Amino acid sequence: MSKVRLRFAPSPTGPLHIGGVRTALYNYLYARKRGGTFVLRIEDTDQTRYMEGAEEYIIESLKWCGITFDEGPEQGGDYGPYRQSERKDHYQKYAMELLNRGHAYYAFDTPEELDKMRADLAEKGIHSAKYNYETRGNMRNSLTLDSEEVNKLIDDGTPYTIRLKIPQDESITIKDGVRGEVTFQTNELDDKVILKADGMPTYHLANIVDDHLMEISHVIRGEEWLSSTSHHLLMYRFLEWKAPLYAHLPLILKPSGKGKLSKRDGAKFGFPVFPISWDSDNPEDAFTGFREDGFLPEALMNFLAFLGWNPGTEQEMFSMDELVEAFSVEKIVKSGARFDFDKIKWFNQQYIIATDDDTLVDQIMDEVRERGYRDDRDFLKAFVGMMKERVEKTSEFIPNATYFFERPVSYDEKTVRKKFKEDNVPHFKAISEIISQNNSGLADKVKGYIKDNGLGFGQILPVLRVAITGSMQGPDLFEMMELLGSEESSERLNIFLESVNQG
Ligand code: GLU
Repeated sequence: MSKVRLRFAPSPTGPLHIGGVRTALYNYLYARKRGGTFVLRIEDTDQTRYMEGAEEYIIESLKWCGITFDEGPEQGGDYGPYRQSERKDHYQKYAMELLNRGHAYYAFDTPEELDKMRADLAEKGIHSAKYNYETRGNMRNSLTLDSEEVNKLIDDGTPYTIRLKIPQDESITIKDGVRGEVTFQTNELDDKVILKADGMPTYHLANIVDDHLMEISHVIRGEEWLSSTSHHLLMYRFLEWKAPLYAHLPLILKPSGKGKLSKRDGAKFGFPVFPISWDSDNPEDAFTGFREDGFLPEALMNFLAFLGWNPGTEQEMFSMDELVEAFSVEKIVKSGARFDFDKIKWFNQQYIIATDDDTLVDQIMDEVRERGYRDDRDFLKAFVGMMKERVEKTSEFIPNATYFFERPVSYDEKTVRKKFKEDNVPHFKAISEIISQNNSGLADKVKGYIKDNGLGFGQILPVLRVAITGSMQGPDLFEMMELLGSEESSERLNIFLESVNQG
């Protein structure tokens, strides 16, 4: 049986958008499901678009996501090197092979000549003209020049590209794992450049050469590559290689469902569209990540898995292992998948609730220390335990509940106005006394006092909560007071009583 080998092949042209992470995830799930090998290949042949730090960013992001590789620039492996910039010789060799087989040709046209060709055709009403079977005969290439001239141009060091010679009047059918059979007419395809004037391959050549040499069996990638696949299949045929099986993933759409989600949409709608933050001197190009915004990687993976796939059951919560088990290419959907930020917040909340308190403390420890807050672990564990059902992101733990660490500086006005009665001051003083003397069982004791004195809970408890936290939101009041300690809690109540007295 042939081996199952998949790859994720990002171009380090900038930070990895959430769509790229989804592609990596689906490849990972499929590779793991089939007991196959997962390869990371860095497609860095486009020197003009190369961005410093992008490769490191991609590797760090995928690690954080829990997407692991068996082979790649870090792991090494039998099919390396895994950076295309280190594999130049392979591409040149196969570009020559395509030339020798008559499926590619040298093209000497200068950028000006190419512009002129397009302008001339535009004048005749042909817009978006292609370098193809119709136009190649009028251009300066090894199909129109005689071989002596071609050799001379090359010997003279004239810059040239190598183009693929697309056959005329054929149909190419892609058997796509998601879309079924998709047919392209070769007359609609252009003679793509496969080797550039700088001797570097274009994406198309490098991609198929490496998929072949790395024995990639399945390619799962974004829909934007579907039309290139016809070029790729032709190159496999010309080189007499077996093509991998392809599956093209649906687009990720904006929250409105209208149009493709773009990297700028994050800033526009106020949510991250990158896994981890990306810094840039230009604020327009700096992006917050899910990690920094308080999302757990498990939640992001679960959410992304559902962005274009579903198991066909009611189950929504899936660990990575469960995703591996449940995943199948057949259940990937064809239509675009709407990026629903409320949904990822929901997933994140579920994962926060399911995460043990110790791990959550790790998530907030830096912020606790930066703010100079009390950082003993038992206290913080109790804190996250009380708050975990009340936050959607780990970044909300502290800002939503600073009263665990600091005394309130103001008191919810509406509650004070409506619920606080001067007549009850002696009762509050008595309650403060009870609190100061009891470290446990506070709920029963305070409630007992309220009942015994013929008071209503509604007269006392909201005021007590506001005195302790400043606001009406928060976890169980008595548990919270016990965590803060009897001294601190009664002190807070006294400070409140003084402040209303003065006010
Ligand atoms: N380097 C391409 C990209 O950045 C890879 C596409 C493919 O998977 O073939 O998306």
